[in-house]
Amino acid sequence: MMRKIGVLTSGGDSPGMNAAVNSVARSAAIYGIPLIGIKRGYNGLLRKSTNIKDDLQELHLETVLDIADEAGTYLRTARCLEFKEQAYREVAVRTLRAMEIDGLVVIGGDGSFNGARCLCEMGVPCIGIPGTIDNDLGYSEMSLGFDTAVNVCVDCVRKIRATSRSHDRPHVVEVMGRHCGDIALTTAVSTGSEIVVVPEVHWSVEEIADKLNRQLAKGNTRATIVLAEGCFESMEPFDLYGFLTSHGKPCYENEPMSAVRLASVLKRMCGMVEVRATVIGYIQRGAEPTARDSAFAFEAGNLAVRLLRDGISNQVIGMQKGRVMYMPIEKALSCEKNFNRDLFNLVNSL
Ligand code: ADP
Repeated sequence: MMRKIGVLTSGGDSPGMNAAVNSVARSAAIYGIPLIGIKRGYNGLLRKSTNIKDDLQELHLETVLDIADEAGTYLRTARCLEFKEQAYREVAVRTLRAMEIDGLVVIGGDGSFNGARCLCEMGVPCIGIPGTIDNDLGYSEMSLGFDTAVNVCVDCVRKIRATSRSHDRPHVVEVMGRHCGDIALTTAVSTGSEIVVVPEVHWSVEEIADKLNRQLAKGNTRATIVLAEGCFESMEPFDLYGFLTSHGKPCYENEPMSAVRLASVLKRMCGMVEVRATVIGYIQRGAEPTARDSAFAFEAGNLAVRLLRDGISNQVIGMQKGRVMYMPIEKALSCEKNFNRDLFNLVNSL
């Protein structure tokens, strides 16, 4: 029997984290296990604050009943670089023992899962719930926040396409996702965007200009080019300074390529009056969770508590073939992310 369990959110915040904490709390209450909320990721376990309530807080049901639909994370989140060192993890384990916390639910991405794996090795039972908008975990079809982030992007791109259409003006839109192109690809597919650029597939500026020119030749004067924020890491070297200055556009030497700069280059390469750019940014992370994310949070939160109650640990929860599942952390972390290249090719070929 677990005396108490702890729950924390770690890494980047993602819509659905609160819904998962709510589900953990409701489940813990039903199974009669007291729940401690650990603040700011692993920082709370290192007891950095002067007021203990700022690090560890008993989570009564009434505290979390109202947060399920809220964006962000009530428990706060933060990086905790010290946690990569064994000496600090020992401090964390001492905190857990002192608080009589016998199991931990960690909601975060692969970095947070690595932290949980280390704690498991030190005898602390942990269960991970994937919480990241990036959808970059290879073992799971979805992670909390991905669907919400995509829906925000779809909403933005539809609005951008309305004004693009009105002005016969192509538009470059940058979405988040770090090294993963899933948000960009799903957004492009869902909005009928004509071109998508992702970190997983090598590309060149000239190739994107060719694609845009093909759209223009077909009479499509308002194509949308969706960029994943990490796409510049797979871009063929391009002399941005040389190109722009030779076309009369001021540019600093060594200025990196960006969505705005790409729009500027495409405008000149394709002979357009205007190509505009929008970076959607953090509003992708701050939306209320969609039904899909909330439903996953509900199931995952309950499963996490049941696993700990039943003495099963060192696992992460995910989604496979549309069903909530779990597997050992170690195995999950070694699964390679499988980018949907066929879908990517389809978007770029029509
Ligand atoms: P995410 O969980 O979204 O991938 P990070 O990579 O920033 O986000 O990781 C979140 C936190 O997880 C880090 O700040 C750190 O506290 C912990 N962490 C990350 N990597 C490790 C590791 N190799 N060992 C122990 N803890 C880690």
